[in-house]
Amino acid sequence: MNDYADIREKLLARRLELRTRVDNIITDVTHAEEPLPSDFAEQAVERENEEVLEALGEAGRTELRAITVALARIDSGDYGMCTGCGEDIPRARLDVLPFSDKCVHCAEDAATAP
Ligand SMILES: [Zn+2]
Repeated sequence: MNDYADIREKLLARRLELRTRVDNIITDVTHAEEPLPSDFAEQAVERENEEVLEALGEAGRTELRAITVALARIDSGDYGMCTGCGEDIPRARLDVLPFSDKCVHCAEDAATAP
């Protein structure tokens, strides 16, 4: 069985980064003038509701969901397998795109599909 511990770390770090960005956006939007209550930021980190996801924008939202799915697949042992053809996704690709769930061929097929 493959060891994806380092990729898992990478995904967790990236998720934290995205959530921090969400916090900053929420701070800008809702508390531009006032200091933030200390526990508000922590609550915001834990929230993954539509309001939070809305603040992140489409690209970040898609990435955050993909990261969540990838982490679940690591935990369930399905990670690293292409959801298109069932083949192993090359490790080099996972290192570059850790939340990818398709091999290069299937990703290209999906991108060029009508
Ligand atoms: Zn594939």
